Amino acid sequence: MARIEALTPDDLWPPDLTRWASGNDGVPFVWRFRAGRPGPHVVINALMHGNEYSGAIAAATLLEAGIRPIRGSLSFAFANMDAFTQFDPDFPIMSRYVEEDMNRIWAPGSLEHGMSTTERRRARELWPLFTTADLVLDLHSLQHDRIPLMLCGSSARGREFARRVGLPAIIVADRGHEGGSRLIDHPRFTEGDGEGPVALLAECGQHWDRDSAQVALAVTAQFLLTAGVVDAGALSPWLPSAPPGPTRLVEVTETVTVRNERFRFLKEYQGMDVIPMAGTVFALDGEVALRTPHDDCVLIMPSRHVERGQTAVRLGRFGA
Ligand SMILES: [Zn+2]
Repeated sequence: MARIEALTPDDLWPPDLTRWASGNDGVPFVWRFRAGRPGPHVVINALMHGNEYSGAIAAATLLEAGIRPIRGSLSFAFANMDAFTQFDPDFPIMSRYVEEDMNRIWAPGSLEHGMSTTERRRARELWPLFTTADLVLDLHSLQHDRIPLMLCGSSARGREFARRVGLPAIIVADRGHEGGSRLIDHPRFTEGDGEGPVALLAECGQHWDRDSAQVALAVTAQFLLTAGVVDAGALSPWLPSAPPGPTRLVEVTETVTVRNERFRFLKEYQGMDVIPMAGTVFALDGEVALRTPHDDCVLIMPSRHVERGQTAVRLGRFGA
């Protein structure tokens, strides 16, 4: 469901984050707490995209509740505050970023070199946090879809940890975008076959749906419980009432990148639509008809208003 018009009183409104501005670890809007006992460093990251604030509501709620690690350390980061502070409820889709998409710049080359934008300066400031992280949960939401998804990237360990967390129950295994590297695609989180740092990206529902804040809180609580860094009792207000059920894995078979001036879907897809027959036309990229490459093709996160070079949709199939 497209929602590009002004927010209404029934929508999810942005939180006031001013009290978290100072940070406590040398970086603005980054809070890190150490247990004084060995354990993993877990980072909860919100606002990679400035208008996706359900994750910021979750992080601020846990900070306000005084959630502390029982082992290792726990950090909360509010990433693209420059974009978030530009949020205008009359034009809610406008504050995704200031100069460039912050979740397309996490390749080693882009971080170290390349141009200096608002987003790259902040990414460089945040990188020391992520480079010491063992487990990262990057909280996002979606412009159209309401179905929560966990994106586990390309590594087997990411997939396995997403299964253990269990929320969101649909896990999408993909290799990212042509447009640039997401945080979860950084080699730190994807290289090597065995043990290693894990970064997951949760899509918690539609940006301005009130449910997305509840989903972000439940996913974060479940992630912290699975990581073993926060006591279950402390998380109980936000943990799901019953343990999560079985997960479903969707393997991305193809990422559709827009090649031409005008791209449109033939139908109003909602996300996670399944097209039964291979060869079905589902979109027009300029004059080019795009067909499903295989039977039972899942359309993952179809994105309207896409420009050339951007991802329009991922195609996939449900795993066994
Ligand atoms: Zn996002």
